[in-house]
Amino acid sequence: MEHYDVVIVGGGPAGSSAAIYTARADLETVVLDKDPHAGALGVAHVIANYPGARSDISGIELLDSMKSQAESFGARFMREKVTGLDLGDTREKTVFTASRKVFKAKAIVLATGSMGKSREIKGERELIGAGVSYCATCDAAFYKGQVVAVAGRTGEAVEESKVLSRFAEKVYLLCPTTTFAVPDEEVESLSHFPNIEMLYNKRISTINGKRKVESLSISGQDSLLEVDGVFLYLTGSAPIIDYAGGQLELVEAGCLRVDNSFSTSVPGVFAAGDVICKETKQAVIVASEGCRAALQVDKYLRGRDRVKSDYH
Ligand SMILES: Cc1cc2nc3c(=O)[nH]c(=O)nc-3n(C[C@H](O)[C@H](O)[C@H](O)COP(=O)(O)OP(=O)(O)OC[C@H]3O[C@@H](n4cnc5c(N)ncnc54)[C@H](O)[C@@H]3O)c2cc1C
Repeated sequence: MEHYDVVIVGGGPAGSSAAIYTARADLETVVLDKDPHAGALGVAHVIANYPGARSDISGIELLDSMKSQAESFGARFMREKVTGLDLGDTREKTVFTASRKVFKAKAIVLATGSMGKSREIKGERELIGAGVSYCATCDAAFYKGQVVAVAGRTGEAVEESKVLSRFAEKVYLLCPTTTFAVPDEEVESLSHFPNIEMLYNKRISTINGKRKVESLSISGQDSLLEVDGVFLYLTGSAPIIDYAGGQLELVEAGCLRVDNSFSTSVPGVFAAGDVICKETKQAVIVASEGCRAALQVDKYLRGRDRVKSDYH
């Protein structure tokens, strides 16, 4: 178990900016991010409008530079997928990850963005836990010697296919478009995994099975793809808050409810970025929210009357 002053969930522009400010406030900070390439900034090819950055900078380059800046002030970044929170203890909250690591924190900032699930696939809901999964790191061992499919185009889908290939006999990686949203080297790295077969332009229309997953219907294709399980990493634009397990209040649109201090309905739990509702989704806006949430964390943890500006 690892103890920190602040755990930041999500290392996009909101989370990274929050980390710069909490680390500079001398708060022990860790940022847990499942895959920077899966976030909104991570998939953006060019960001021409971020103040002070080159106008041809890619989203991932911009993120790398924010991460380095936060690390230079002492923040740690770890590649971890957060799967659960326990917010019951008022002094220390608990964060659980897919790799079974447990983090304790006096305050949490949620900055997981809104690249959440896309529209539900026919048959998906009925077969959750009976072959439909969203976490290979959690469930891969159940598919030893079996045939599975992974649907998605993000780095997370690519990495989770590799995890599955250690257990399953065959892994079909179904990319819904003609390209993956990851650098070419990452796609090429799949050639070292002989039991992973990449199939492009494959969209699942129905997940078939009576008591468990048996096959997939693919749009525009007559034959069924026979599989024992399917792992879904198809991102839409819904706020990612599944790991909070209903412990935090939401607004009608499904975003986290926060007050003017970026505090959620649970004291000590703050949120910033696209995970909270906003009129315009822009990197500079969420970076400023990360900053403001972090200053509130400092105020909360240090028992200050007012937010302290970060300058000398
Ligand atoms: C294609 C595209 C192009 C864009 N172009 C521009 C542009 O040109 N200019 C501009 O200003 N804005 C642009 N935007 C908008 C901008 O990228 C977003 O508003 C911004 O990235 C949101 O930041 P965020 O930190 O809230 O979320 P994100 O950037 O989505 O980051 C969230 C992070 O949380 C991680 N995460 C999610 N769930 C978990 C979990 N359970 N455990 C651990 N980590 C998790 C994700 O992997 C991700 O790294 C674009 C967005 C898209 C999709």
